[in-house]
Amino acid sequence: MPPAPPPYIGRFAPSPTGPLHFGSLVAAIGSYLEARSRGGRWLLRIEDVDAPRTVPGAADAIIATLARFGFDWDGEIAWQSRRLDAYRAAFEQLRAAGHVFPCACTRREMADSALARDGSRIYPGTCRKGLPPGRSAHAWRVRAQGTVTFDDRVQGRQEEDLARDVGDFVVLRGDGQFAYQLAVVVDDAAAGVTDVVRGADLLGSTGRQIHLQHLLGVPTPGYAHLPVVVNAAGEKLSKQTLAAPIDVLPQGTALAAALAFLGHPPPAELAHGPLAGLWAWAIANWKLERVPRRTQAQAPAGLAATLS
Ligand code: GLU
Repeated sequence: MPPAPPPYIGRFAPSPTGPLHFGSLVAAIGSYLEARSRGGRWLLRIEDVDAPRTVPGAADAIIATLARFGFDWDGEIAWQSRRLDAYRAAFEQLRAAGHVFPCACTRREMADSALARDGSRIYPGTCRKGLPPGRSAHAWRVRAQGTVTFDDRVQGRQEEDLARDVGDFVVLRGDGQFAYQLAVVVDDAAAGVTDVVRGADLLGSTGRQIHLQHLLGVPTPGYAHLPVVVNAAGEKLSKQTLAAPIDVLPQGTALAAALAFLGHPPPAELAHGPLAGLWAWAIANWKLERVPRRTQAQAPAGLAATLS
């Protein structure tokens, strides 16, 4: 008999850069329902590795909002700011194996390089063979090579040629901060996460994360990237686009709208009843195959005005 597959472990991993908005609620709900409908665990991790971007009080506000919505996460909340030793150990492992190199290039020096999908510059390879004389390291980059393919459970087959599409990418910044790409891989592996369900804005990060998983010798989870909520101008809802905190809406209204956005419009009477009824319906009816296969969509018309 083949070995039983590992029990499902999902997670929601918000960055505490502002309050929970409709876009982040959608990601929380998708990952939560997929975990619960498969009888799995659902973990909560606060991604505060990027200290300069972390807004004081935002993590607590996000946690309180999730609790008010009735999300019940399993185990202790993980905090990236407390896991720097684990990131350091992973970095040392990469360094010992020759997978990373110090880089002296400044943003300005790379300004002519092509843009990657996420808007960063594709590294031209200047310091790959060693630092130019007299220059010191600004950052450490991991060598990006090979093609990564994966079957995203919402978006379908994805393929990324790392050298062409991304280039050597930063894992340790000049200011001593470990990059999100490294932290997320180390944390998902440590927590035994089997399935990542998150916003499609991170689709372009997945190739780098799978590459790091291979280099570190940790398993690759399954991936499902949900459509991202955009405003009328086509911008992702975020602190920068001034998306309103989701707390401005009654919870049932927000939850029902997020479910509809994810292809699961609940019966109208449930949206106005107790939250528990809506959750029970959602867990019983959730099917990832019903999530629209697109990377972005506008918030439902009625909500758009309140939210952006
Ligand atoms: N912290 C990331 C964000 O808030 C999500 C990371 C992930 O789910 O992998 O966009």
